[in-house]
Amino acid sequence: MGYVEEVYAKVVEKNPSQPEFHQAVKEVLETLKPAIEANEELYRKEAILERLVEPDRQIMFRVPWVDDKGQIQVNRGFRVQFNNSIGPYKGGLRLHPSVNIGIIKFLGFEQIFKNSLTGLPIGGGKGGSDFDPKGKSDREVMAFCKSFITELYKYIGADEDVPAGDIGTGAREIGYMFGQYKRITGLYEGVLTGKGLSYGGSLARTEATGYGLLYLTEEMLKCNGKDIAGKTVVVSGAGNVAIYAIQKAQQLGAKPVTCSDSTGWIYDPEGIDVELLKEIKEVKRARLTEYAAARKSAEYHEGKGVWTIKCDIALPCATQNELDIEDAKTLVANGCFAVAEGANMPTTLEATKYLQENGVLFAPGKAANAGGVATSALEMSQNSERLSWTFEEVDNKLKGIMVNIFHNIDDASRKYGKEGDYVTGANIAGFEKVVDAMLAQGV
Ligand code: NDP
Repeated sequence: MGYVEEVYAKVVEKNPSQPEFHQAVKEVLETLKPAIEANEELYRKEAILERLVEPDRQIMFRVPWVDDKGQIQVNRGFRVQFNNSIGPYKGGLRLHPSVNIGIIKFLGFEQIFKNSLTGLPIGGGKGGSDFDPKGKSDREVMAFCKSFITELYKYIGADEDVPAGDIGTGAREIGYMFGQYKRITGLYEGVLTGKGLSYGGSLARTEATGYGLLYLTEEMLKCNGKDIAGKTVVVSGAGNVAIYAIQKAQQLGAKPVTCSDSTGWIYDPEGIDVELLKEIKEVKRARLTEYAAARKSAEYHEGKGVWTIKCDIALPCATQNELDIEDAKTLVANGCFAVAEGANMPTTLEATKYLQENGVLFAPGKAANAGGVATSALEMSQNSERLSWTFEEVDNKLKGIMVNIFHNIDDASRKYGKEGDYVTGANIAGFEKVVDAMLAQGV
């Protein structure tokens, strides 16, 4: 058995019932093989892979809170601090009923390489809870967030671990969490990112993941002799990433025609009305049926289906494993030539392989959606300086970072003879920097 296979087998054995974590480790280690085989003796001696797949620590805790009926509810909170070789742990907090330790570990593991790719000094971590913010009153969300931080505050700090938003955690939740952290510790510091603009948030953070996804996609197309203008784009999701991906795609002259949420999806052949979508999702927090009700050109369908629409470019921006092998076959048959992941691991391994084998340009999430965490790191810089930069300043830096990420992953793919394989390129480019730091710092 090779080194990669040995380590992967141990991961499966030591972490049973964590299929998403196994999937993430497998995907990363398999693609790292060329870089690992070139240094196998040293990496084995230093147990680099064994150290990489074992988080620095995993924190799991009870989150009790009182609902509007006076009933006590109990959720489970998580923070996995995976690797801080190149900077303080950094990664979002996911609030969704599906959250468990395996999902947080998969996300934390991926975050190490993504954060490294940004070129900024941030380590990898992730957290969250199985709390479902849907259908909860503002007061209930506040009660949950304050209880969550009452435990988590012990483990985080501006130079230690800086959580951010993710699915279910937006500006409202970050505000309640920041308020509680400040109250308990007495510190006004950049301990969380995704904050409101009146108390230390960064301009362009809200837009950053979606905009960054399009900056990278545009550069990938350009370097492959294609232009994004005039192309038809299908997008899944209708949350933070999807909304700003749709907006930037339109600004670049493309035509996004779909979006979706966990109950259904919209096909709007005239192009998604992003202002209407924002009103429904960001202001009213309503379902997509309202979009179809307000717009004649739109069709609403129950369930899953955006990948059946003919397109040039597909941008999965909802959640993990939402694009499977059947979807990949449909996309290829319909002439789709580029897929860039806005969400984390939205494409199954089998689907990724199929897309790549069929000549589809494929940008993996850890590169394509790194704009969010990169701008979070820019928020940390502004907090440390006690200054705020303009929207244009942040947006320009974001664009520079995304273009740079694309060239780094492209170069890494060429260095190991895998030209155009951006999955391998992203994993290797992210990995090499972290490993250098781990080796330099010793055991
Ligand atoms: P949001 O909560 O704002 O939106 C998520 C969207 O995806 C919603 O439309 C939601 O629908 C839909 N969705 C969630 N779970 C499912 C599911 N199981 N099946 C179908 N649809 C689902 O989250 P974000 O937009 O912030 O995040 C989307 C993805 O991007 C995640 O994978 C996240 O980890 C990743 N990401 C986000 C970053 C950020 O800066 N926000 C940065 C990097 C990655 P509904 O509302 O009905 O649940």
